Amino acid sequence: MALIVQKFGGTSVGSIERIKNVARRVAKWKAAGHDLVVVPSAMAGETNRLIALAREIQPQPDARELDVIATTGEQVTIGLLAMALLDLGVKARSYTGWQVKLLTDSAHTRARIVSIDEKAIRDDLAAGNVVVVAGFQGVDAKGNITTLGRGGSDTSAVALAAALNAHECHIFTDVDGVYTTDPRIVPEARRLKTITFEEMLEMAGAGSKVLQIRSVEFAGKYKVPTRVLSSLTDPMLPVADEARSGTLITFEEDPHITMEKPVISGVAFARDEAKITVHDVPDRPGVAYAILGPIADANIDVDVIVQNVGVDGMTDLSFTVHRNDYARAMKILKGQVQSHIKCRDVTGDEHIAKISIVGMGMRSHAGIAAQMFRSLAEEGINIQMISTSEIKITVVIEEKYTELAVRVLHKAFELDQE
Ligand code: ASP
Ligand code: MG
Repeated sequence: MALIVQKFGGTSVGSIERIKNVARRVAKWKAAGHDLVVVPSAMAGETNRLIALAREIQPQPDARELDVIATTGEQVTIGLLAMALLDLGVKARSYTGWQVKLLTDSAHTRARIVSIDEKAIRDDLAAGNVVVVAGFQGVDAKGNITTLGRGGSDTSAVALAAALNAHECHIFTDVDGVYTTDPRIVPEARRLKTITFEEMLEMAGAGSKVLQIRSVEFAGKYKVPTRVLSSLTDPMLPVADEARSGTLITFEEDPHITMEKPVISGVAFARDEAKITVHDVPDRPGVAYAILGPIADANIDVDVIVQNVGVDGMTDLSFTVHRNDYARAMKILKGQVQSHIKCRDVTGDEHIAKISIVGMGMRSHAGIAAQMFRSLAEEGINIQMISTSEIKITVVIEEKYTELAVRVLHKAFELDQE
């Protein structure tokens, strides 16, 4: 008998029929002798609907009030799911994030979890209840309702699994695991049986949308065995089969897992990127800070950064931002920054994409970057920027070549083969 946290995404609880299926699935695990904590998202589309309502009143909604509104989606699904379980004769109790309590900092709409009081949950489990906890939401030290950022119920689930020292955290979603790349682009993409936490983190950072990146960080920090699996299968699939399905996130310490690993595990991409170049800035200490400091102060995340070799005491600095932040970043640079550092010009390109290959095997194999660049060159795809980590190589290319680049790299690294 084990304690298992199971998270069900928006699609998985998207209708009453699906909520009943979730209840059947949970009841099945309970009947197999396990303790269950279940974390649902809001019904598919509900969070978007709530945010749109808020925007009809305030185009830039007040963050505290937006959290009050956005958390109602999950409050509905916990109640419905608890009822569906009760209806099957399974003892169940639902809790909001503040009832638990799941304490966060006060950064509304993107709060971080500080602590989780798991005592009441443990008591409920001991009394034989399935405990249903609302995902995505928490409460700050002053009692304000907070949310953990879009996709945040993944993080709620992994954090609960960490706090409860669960045997595994199951993330049930509308795909049956983590794939070598997006199967909508490459039909030959394969499901990975395991992926290391480090690879998963890089994949999430590089644009793979399977898990919220913070949940992966949590899984790594607290070594929570996390499994991504499908909620669209038959809910009565035997527990023994379901327990082995999907993709398990593993930790490097497990040596035989790492040894079996291929050189590259996946190709990730992000289309919603933009590139900004600051031209002819004086090549001296403090300039990168003068450019990127104000961007950071505006809470804009910067990713790939490239600075050229200086010529005649001048250099160019380029970097990427999320496309949603592009206009804001350009405004800052063309205003205060340009007048301060006296650069020649600031230009931008909103039609770029980031393509990354990720794999632990890169550490011990030379020539991976060259192979990547050759494959892109053979298709006439120009590389605009390059950045690397120990287990990832990212290139920035013209957006219109995204699909071609992903296909070519998937094939070049033989990801279509077992
Ligand atoms: N309902 C929230 C969202 O749509 C949280 C989640 O689904 O994980 O972002
Ligand atoms: Mg999600």
